Amino acid sequence: MKHNFYAGPSIIDESVLKSAGSLVRKTDEYLSILEISHRSKRFGELMEETLFLAKSVLRLSDEFDVIYLHGGGRQQFYQIPFNLSGLFKTSYYIDSGSWAMQAYQEALHFGKAEILASSKGNGYRSLPSFEMMEDSSYYYMVTNNTIFGTQFNNISKLNAPLVGDMSSDLFSREIEFNLFDLFFSATQKNAGTAGGCLVYIKRGLLKKDIGSIPKMIDYRTHINKKSLYNTPPVFSVLMTNLTLKWIVQQGGVSHLEKRNKEKASLLYGEIDRNAVFTGYAEKEHRSDMNVVFNGLSNELEERFISYAEKSGIVGIHGHWSIGGFRASLYNALPIDSVKVLIDVMQEFERTQA
Ligand code: PMP
Repeated sequence: MKHNFYAGPSIIDESVLKSAGSLVRKTDEYLSILEISHRSKRFGELMEETLFLAKSVLRLSDEFDVIYLHGGGRQQFYQIPFNLSGLFKTSYYIDSGSWAMQAYQEALHFGKAEILASSKGNGYRSLPSFEMMEDSSYYYMVTNNTIFGTQFNNISKLNAPLVGDMSSDLFSREIEFNLFDLFFSATQKNAGTAGGCLVYIKRGLLKKDIGSIPKMIDYRTHINKKSLYNTPPVFSVLMTNLTLKWIVQQGGVSHLEKRNKEKASLLYGEIDRNAVFTGYAEKEHRSDMNVVFNGLSNELEERFISYAEKSGIVGIHGHWSIGGFRASLYNALPIDSVKVLIDVMQEFERTQA
């Protein structure tokens, strides 16, 4: 048996994969969902249900529109400034890691953008604190930093629209969504598989005249066409649909949040106890989704990866930019996988270090 700690694409519950299998297959009477027109009633209903679920599992008010787009997370790095940048105002980015930094670099193509605060100086082990600016077109933050394993917990109301990249924590915990004016998540972590992106936009945000922009990039096109403007990534939509139904069956986001906290606290507990490993992020900023840690030396880290593989543990190597380990504890990861990892860490400390 494999214990899948990959950061994304990442673990999908067995029951979701089984349902996808049967919907992808065709019979004498039924075509596969992948080989019918996206204009058909059957696919239209699938999209409509997916968008409904994407909003209802978050218990969002009707203030938000939700759309399903192509292009994963990174497409939003330029689509956001394209749609929201005022010509004379500056947008402010909170630099809590490389996903925020890359989004900022894309924003520089469209109007003015600045880094409001950064924790680069300490290797992004903590979250930067920041002050509000007088005149801003929007603020931008990444609520969970997939690479460095930090997560924002206390988000406060700001004096301009707040944009959130929630690619690695949407559906894993309750967040004060109403404080955001736009938030999005790529779909390959807790929302299905790769290829898509869910974007939530508060009504009224797009009102101002942003001039002439390409139709495909204009959020209003996709809102008006109910995410069927061009041919959507049908397989990704199917996977998101089934994953959202699975979230409902599990008792919803609040129930998953409890489970995720339990998994994270078990693993951090072991990292803090074990003499061979140290946590990367500062304790008060630790993420429940991506647990980042190091071994005593590079040599020991390499040995641990091979050692853990013998017990079926896969995907724990850290992001290539920082090395070490990263155990991603997304919704579908069973607590038993975390327990196996902890057993292996203890055994390694006893016998191999
Ligand atoms: N933002 C965050 C927080 C991410 O973790 C990722 C991918 N891991 C991205 C953006 C980029 O997503 P994609 O690869 O789908 O473009």
